[in-house]
Amino acid sequence: MTDCIFCKIIAGTIPTTSVYRTEQVTAIRDLNPQAPTHILLLPNKHLASVAEAQPEDEALLGALFLAAKRVAEQENVGSYRLVVNTGAQAGQSVFHLHVHLLGGRAMSWPPG
Ligand code: AMP
Repeated sequence: MTDCIFCKIIAGTIPTTSVYRTEQVTAIRDLNPQAPTHILLLPNKHLASVAEAQPEDEALLGALFLAAKRVAEQENVGSYRLVVNTGAQAGQSVFHLHVHLLGGRAMSWPPG
């Protein structure tokens, strides 16, 4: 997707340091961190949101969670929250599916 900021980051046209990268997933630090550790896990393939995922994306969705686990280990966060905002009302602002990995502070429930 030519107008997608996360596609540009994945393609390297917007320079960003990735903290983790595989054939399927790229992880970057959030520009506006909401916790001491705030990392975004992006599928390298453009998917607007979970709502757009198809049965053939099953392995990719699994790869995102496994990448989150590995990045949490790499960052030494033993307790963390994974968030996937889906749709504008739920707080999604970038329409390229991403998992937020938030850690390094106590968190409350329910989220706002
Ligand atoms: P969401 O609101 O769930 O769609 O999350 C989008 C996230 O992307 C926000 O936390 C933003 O701070 C983050 N973000 C937007 N642009 C960039 C960027 N260029 N690099 C890193 N994070 C970004």
